[in-house]
Amino acid sequence: MACSTRGVYLKRRARHWWLLACALGLFGTQTRAEPRPQPRTMPQRPVDAGKADVSLDYGATPVRVGGMRCVEQPPQAFLIRTNWFNNGAVGAAMAQQAVRYRTEKYGFFRGFGRAEWNPHPPGFYAVATTFMGLPLQVHKRIVPALKCVEQALKDGPGHLVYTARGVGGIRYHNTYHGGEVSNHVYGIAMDIDSDVNTCCGCVGTWNQHPLCRKKTSNVYDRTALPATWVKTFERFGFYWLGHDAMQDTMHFEFLGDPDKSIAP
Ligand SMILES: [Zn+2]
Repeated sequence: MACSTRGVYLKRRARHWWLLACALGLFGTQTRAEPRPQPRTMPQRPVDAGKADVSLDYGATPVRVGGMRCVEQPPQAFLIRTNWFNNGAVGAAMAQQAVRYRTEKYGFFRGFGRAEWNPHPPGFYAVATTFMGLPLQVHKRIVPALKCVEQALKDGPGHLVYTARGVGGIRYHNTYHGGEVSNHVYGIAMDIDSDVNTCCGCVGTWNQHPLCRKKTSNVYDRTALPATWVKTFERFGFYWLGHDAMQDTMHFEFLGDPDKSIAP
């Protein structure tokens, strides 16, 4: 059922290319379909509800971690899932490239790509670390970028306007429907406070969540996460899935080049 059960909205043309890519086997033969994370509790007031003043240029302040300089970089376009669905054959090729890149850089996840591209699964490279004092496991190659985000939040007002209470990193099973593979299985994605930062385009009961029922075109009305945090993550190669059709506002994924995160 893999390629015919996508749980998220796709335009008709994008769906055409998606199904074509599936038919060509670009995404492997994953068949497991599990629901996206569900809200653990009813919505609460966020710990710090205030949205930050995003008019400040936080990017002007260099960030250092462990004596190294944090390097700012954008996410790589071919890794952004939105680009796979809106660019015809070019998008399908990007999706194929993304599977190979993630396998080579982060590990082979069964059903996607080829085992000869990487001798180990992503879990082999996972390490225990912390983010804003909270424990999580991620791929070791993204730890420097994550630490840069953390330091930037501590250097600026980020730590004052929002306090994370729970984070999640690597997963050992794929939670995406429709033949696509989640970046969580590569250890390069993390979720923050899944009870208050919604995923209104995900399957399950998310569409019943009060923040998802709001009539608004502003995704920040559907999340407790302040824009300051999003912009800080984005400085260091992370992509926020709040920008995606899924509006997965708890979710950041590292789509930069892990070899360029820090420099002397
Ligand atoms: Zn996630």
